[in-house]
Amino acid sequence: MPTVTLDSRLPAVVGGPTAKKLESALGLRTVDDLLRHYPRRYARRGDLTDLGRLRLDEHVTVQAEVRTVVNKEYGRPDPKRRRRPVRTEVVVTDGTGELLLTFFKQPWRAERLRQGTVGLFAGKVGDFNGRRQLLHPECEILDGVKEATRLTRALIPLYPATAALATWAIARSVEQVLDVVDAVDDPLPEQVRSRHGLVGLSEALEGVHRPASDSDWQRARDRLRHEEALLAQVVLARRRHRVDALPAVVREPVGGGVRERFLQQVPFALTAGQRAVGAEIAADLARPHPMHRLLQGEVGSGKTVVALLAMLQVVDAGGQAALLAPTEVLAQQHHRSLGALLGDLAMGGMLGGSEAGTRIQLLTGSVGAGARRQAIDDAASGGAGIVVGTHALLEERVQFADLGLVVVDEQHRFGVQQRAALGERGGAHRPHVLVMTATPIPRTVAMTVFGDLETSVLAELPAGRLPVQTTVVPAAERPDWLERAWLRVREECAQGRQAYVVCPRIGADLGAEEAAWPPDDGAAADDEVAGGLPPTTHSVLELADELRAGALAGLRTEVLHGRLPPDAKDAAMDRFAAGEVDVLVATTVIEVGVDVANATVMAVMDAERFGLSQLHQLRGRVGRGTKAGLCLLVTEAATGSPARERLDAVAATADGFAVSRLDVSVRREGDVLGATQSGRRSSLRLLSVVEHEDVITRARDDATALVADDPDLARTAGLAAAVAAIEESARADFLEKV
Ligand code: ADP
Ligand code: MG
Repeated sequence: MPTVTLDSRLPAVVGGPTAKKLESALGLRTVDDLLRHYPRRYARRGDLTDLGRLRLDEHVTVQAEVRTVVNKEYGRPDPKRRRRPVRTEVVVTDGTGELLLTFFKQPWRAERLRQGTVGLFAGKVGDFNGRRQLLHPECEILDGVKEATRLTRALIPLYPATAALATWAIARSVEQVLDVVDAVDDPLPEQVRSRHGLVGLSEALEGVHRPASDSDWQRARDRLRHEEALLAQVVLARRRHRVDALPAVVREPVGGGVRERFLQQVPFALTAGQRAVGAEIAADLARPHPMHRLLQGEVGSGKTVVALLAMLQVVDAGGQAALLAPTEVLAQQHHRSLGALLGDLAMGGMLGGSEAGTRIQLLTGSVGAGARRQAIDDAASGGAGIVVGTHALLEERVQFADLGLVVVDEQHRFGVQQRAALGERGGAHRPHVLVMTATPIPRTVAMTVFGDLETSVLAELPAGRLPVQTTVVPAAERPDWLERAWLRVREECAQGRQAYVVCPRIGADLGAEEAAWPPDDGAAADDEVAGGLPPTTHSVLELADELRAGALAGLRTEVLHGRLPPDAKDAAMDRFAAGEVDVLVATTVIEVGVDVANATVMAVMDAERFGLSQLHQLRGRVGRGTKAGLCLLVTEAATGSPARERLDAVAATADGFAVSRLDVSVRREGDVLGATQSGRRSSLRLLSVVEHEDVITRARDDATALVADDPDLARTAGLAAAVAAIEESARADFLEKV
């Protein structure tokens, strides 16, 4: 056999049929792919408990074979599906005794746990009618377990597996590859390894797949994790290095300009945070290199004013600014609220407008042909100082006379590539870029995902804001609480206030809101979580009818969702903003930025279906005025279920940073870098941006020093190759173009 390296293709090493399975089930193509498919955990032979010796309440792992499987219906039919829920009862045996495994509402279990299947099952021993039972145990199917060689190992590696490819089959291929792989090029430079006491790559790969002891795999993981952190940070450090060398037009503040006049007429005092961040940005815009800044601030913290100040500085200096919003509703709202903030300063060049003013144009997919042509002309001629829009702004034919600043609102809903496309609009000179997000991002996440952006935080809310009170309404367990919830909505409306009701779907046969489903934290994507979720979901159209006829009869109720024609959407929003509608039943189109101060209560239906940060965003829609807001998270998730615990956690804190940490910690590893979007596998497998702050900090310091010293990485060949691979891949687009 020719020399096997990390770059070798798998068919040459493990044979065609096996390689085909590894590729189709797990996307593994090369030796490196396979060796980077690390075990999730290790089962210890000595830790397995005999079924004859199970004690109540003990946490056990058993290895056993499935003897019988039955699905049994129980309880009342689910009203939405007209089917009764199913309980799966599996009896397993290891020759010394029997054990019952029970799963509720996971009928697919019966498919996976067929008679004769051998697996590891872990959980707490309970009692069901005198029989020993594990309720919803962790399952690890071990096909081919009878291969004796594997069982003699003290630690059995358990791989992330799929139905088509068991952990066992993966282990066999890994063994085969480890036995023949040769000469691996270590991406971690020697000096970094010795500084942090990390083992070499060959030793790490051996230790992670074939550990003889716990310390073997622990040392291996430490090193592999550090490698992930260093590679990401070197890519980002190189990016910072390159951006720092790019030219941008200097946009210094101009005395007596629109910015100053706006500051004189703004109807409130800026918060200390707004002033401080405003000054930071003003200084950035006056540098001859492009600003790349991330502005974080809680919902309602007043990011728009800060962005407007920046845009006006650029306008005063003769340039133009583009403000990108993630949805049409938001773009329209920004257009309106910038207009309102600026007053006659927004009517530059128009009859009755201020001489010193500028002009704001709206350009979205839905503006009429005439207005659209006008907006495009104004962008091209420089007549519009500020152009607000959605991604329609990125279409090739929209040209700017002198684009100096791009502001991107609510970054997490906006495609990175789209942002990059606009960033390239400035020709030889790059525009300055300000990214705004209301999802507070933990420091280490910012350092990893937005590692090439400077960050600013608006920590305080404008004076007089009251926090939103959040309550979980367990609709299945306490239907009376749900009735009380609707009563609360009626009470608020009776006092002249307004309510939102948010649903995960549009209609019975229409899908979810296009942008909002599945929840972007991937929380429900995991089998274990999704399997335990109640199957019902409310839809905007059905629930609105139900409420009009029932709990909210007599109130003025309207619907808003992404499938409405644009002018209908706009009209619904306008009527709600004008107070002509009491209750808006909507999808997450209202998630970001919608600002109606008179709305004080929100009910989120099937709240477990939403990401945590999304829920935090949603509740930010109430309590925008001086009245306290109330957010009701309606759920059928059972007490104690993971879904319910996540909701309880959101309800218990008003701190967006805390929510964000929770949110990130439930993401599947690696999704944070967005790799799954491009279909490529993530390069973050062991590194958790929440847990490994120390590793990330050390890696960032090392990376900054390495790149400053040797930007082309000419002296560290292994590192250069690994970095080049990332930079060339699809995922590099993501890191590169932020
Ligand atoms: P967000 O950060 O969520 O985008 P906005 O910029 O939309 O927040 O501001 C929320 C509301 O607070 C707006 O109505 C805005 O006019 C108002 N606002 C902004 N700054 C202040 C301030 N310093 N004092 C009082 N109200 C403010
Ligand atoms: Mg906003």
